Amino acid sequence: MSTMRAVQVVGYHRRLEMTELPVPEPTGPFDVVVKIGGAGVCRTDLHILEGQWAEKSGVALPYTIGHENAGWVHAVGSAVTNVREGDKVIVHPLITCGLCRACRSGDDVHCETNQFPGIDTDGGYAEYLRTSARSVVRIDDRLEPSDVAALADAGLTAYHAAAKAARRLSPRDRCVVIGAGGLGHIGIQVLKAISPAELIVVDRNPDAVKLALAIGADHGVVAEGKQVEEVLELTDGHGAEVLIDFVGEGGSTAEGAQMLRRAGDYHVVGYGENVNIPTIDIISAEINFIGNLVGSYNDLQDLMALAARGAVTLHTVKYALDDFQSAIDDLDGGRVRGRAILTP
Ligand SMILES: [Zn+2]
Ligand SMILES: [Zn+2]
Repeated sequence: MSTMRAVQVVGYHRRLEMTELPVPEPTGPFDVVVKIGGAGVCRTDLHILEGQWAEKSGVALPYTIGHENAGWVHAVGSAVTNVREGDKVIVHPLITCGLCRACRSGDDVHCETNQFPGIDTDGGYAEYLRTSARSVVRIDDRLEPSDVAALADAGLTAYHAAAKAARRLSPRDRCVVIGAGGLGHIGIQVLKAISPAELIVVDRNPDAVKLALAIGADHGVVAEGKQVEEVLELTDGHGAEVLIDFVGEGGSTAEGAQMLRRAGDYHVVGYGENVNIPTIDIISAEINFIGNLVGSYNDLQDLMALAARGAVTLHTVKYALDDFQSAIDDLDGGRVRGRAILTP
């Protein structure tokens, strides 16, 4: 039996450990084994090590971490027809059943019997990953797995929210984006590509605002205390029709709600704080609060179409798989510009 290197969670509040494991094989007819070309290192991985997901995922330790994966098809089960050995693929983060009500309506994320490699079963900080035929998206020849791996989760989440928001946006509308960091800067590129609305980006960091303007924002607001007034000024005193909040903490929801026009949509993506808004304000202004979680298989295909034509690009910093600890330390220490990627 051939073996591979894999990085595992061996305990909470402990460092990850490199180990040797058997290379996974297709055991079910729809299984697909992917040779990993890139595995994104995500803030969620830090939260996993802190034990934040221990109860929610119920995962048995040790297991292999890593949920943002792309690579090449290595082996397929007997019933797989949509990909074959050697195909370049990005991996949708969930393994879904295809049979439940949510799956049949295309809402993969809410599959009733889903598995989440890297969270509740073996993930992609390894040389190989087992997933299912329903989860692999073939990518354009021009794209490299290590360049797009982080789009599997961070990018997909931003795409899902931006695409949902864009459905109601017309050329006369304004869309405010709070937070132009990792997810936000993907959301801005997506909105630029699929929405005709005017785009206003708010961030505390002047460099992030500069970047937002460079990738397509129409207006940038540096949040220094007067951000609500500035957004109202840019929207003729009415506020924006749609707001996407990629921050969700540090008071962003209270401020964001004041930037919203009556009957506006408030998309929550970032999370951390409670929404504390008087219900009378919600009914009198008819505010729609909308949650957003990852994205569907179709969302991922749409995002890959944008990536293939260069409409969405991602800054990445690459590390060898053996250097996993440096990647984790750099992310934890705020030293990663863009996304950290492990390349086995
Ligand atoms: Zn992630
Ligand atoms: Zn399902």
